[in-house]
Amino acid sequence: MKQHDAMYIDGSWRPAEGSGAIDVVNPADGRVIATVPAGSAQDVDAAVRAARAALPGWAATAPAERAARLTALRDQLAARGEELAETVTAELGSPPAFSTKVQVGMPVVVCGSYAELAASYPFEERVGNSTVLHEPVGVVGAITPWNYPLHQIVAKVAPALAAGCTVVLKPAENTPLVAQLFAECVDAAGIPAGVFNLVTGLGPVAGQALAEHPGVDLVSFTGSTAVGKKIGAIAGAAVKRVALELGGKSANVILPGADLAKAVAVGVANVMANSGQTCSAWTRMLVHTDRYAEAVELAATAAAKYVPGERIGPLVSARQRDRVRGYIEQGVAEGAKIVAGGPQPPLEAGYYVTPTVFAEVTPEMTIAQEEIFGPVLSLLRYEDEEDAARIANGTVYGLAGAVWAGDEETAVAFARRLDAGQVDINGGGFNPLAPFGGYKQSGVGRELGRHGLTEYLQTKSLQF
Ligand code: NAD
Repeated sequence: MKQHDAMYIDGSWRPAEGSGAIDVVNPADGRVIATVPAGSAQDVDAAVRAARAALPGWAATAPAERAARLTALRDQLAARGEELAETVTAELGSPPAFSTKVQVGMPVVVCGSYAELAASYPFEERVGNSTVLHEPVGVVGAITPWNYPLHQIVAKVAPALAAGCTVVLKPAENTPLVAQLFAECVDAAGIPAGVFNLVTGLGPVAGQALAEHPGVDLVSFTGSTAVGKKIGAIAGAAVKRVALELGGKSANVILPGADLAKAVAVGVANVMANSGQTCSAWTRMLVHTDRYAEAVELAATAAAKYVPGERIGPLVSARQRDRVRGYIEQGVAEGAKIVAGGPQPPLEAGYYVTPTVFAEVTPEMTIAQEEIFGPVLSLLRYEDEEDAARIANGTVYGLAGAVWAGDEETAVAFARRLDAGQVDINGGGFNPLAPFGGYKQSGVGRELGRHGLTEYLQTKSLQF
């Protein structure tokens, strides 16, 4: 696997200040495939200084030129798609077809969308006797997770660069190799030195140093709610802008008139995608009591088709695998009924978890409240729409969800009642240009599309 034993700072690959290193492990077999530097607070400082120095020039670059660089970056990502996909498969474990189509295909689209937005966005507007300027916020500290490692990077870096901000990225420690390839693509795209900088390292060391650095104007974080709360507190204390994309416990609400077979099939596929390591996964399936037994049978049959090592990959690490198995055991202990899978390991090697479906789950159970982040689906029953809305909204999260009904109007009416940032209607499918982000403890701010760009802008009005 291609790797750098250096960090991309101010347009070149520089060795780290310290000698710390992080092993990158292939979760399909547990073998170490690479070692990258564990950046320190000094490395973060060097990167932030580079980003600050590059800021005035990049912020003053014409939007059309920023758009041209982002188009070149999109082309680089597309041209190196195969290598990027292989790298994601090696360090995350996602099956090759998923890596190609989703893990790399989606960020290519997102990067292209920001090239277009950079060219077309009204960075200056006239309002009455004022001109409103939409100016870059400044230096962005981007901290990303491992579950969609390239997408998470592009969803922050592309809009930040489109807005005229400069960036220091601290990617997840499990998936730094795809971040290094991304830095190579940035370099090849002709993006000036210092505009994008990469510091690999541990969250509580490099990540925290980045969030705390006084030279960072905006912290954009995607990851767990627990760490998000810490980042929010750090940003609050310094009155810096913050964007948080956090966890979820999304509900897939199947209303009585829905096509049950389709709703269950799509719902199971949604949870099993990326081995359940998707923050917006519809991990709670809510079914009317009259059709509950039928739905349980359909879900169990569908889940059994996700053969570990073939259709479904491992979890990213032994820690995540153990955490997910712990939740499965807790579900059993609290009285839920396993109808597919279970806590036993499906394969000897690698960090696999058997796709698992629970029936007889009640809303207060741990598996119905906490984010599991693995291939585990819970089926809950409801008595009427009121009950369904109460259960769907009954967690601290509010990231996403789905509604299925006999007609669109009924589904949309129910979707309006959900406390969630994104709701799929009758299997509409993910739209990488629509705003994405959470209500409640699922986050602050939005990514993707126009809303994702405005996160990186601040407004100034000039009165004439
Ligand atoms: P995590 O919070 O442990 O780590 C995320 C990132 O934060 C990593 O880069 C990590 O190194 C860094 N980090 C860890 N501790 C830090 C600290 N004290 N200070 C600064 N940075 C720190 O989460 P994870 O385990 O990598 O990812 C899984 C979680 O992320 C899940 O809860 C999932 O729902 C959430 N997630 C949310 C979204 C979203 O868009 N809402 C997307 C993906 C993942």
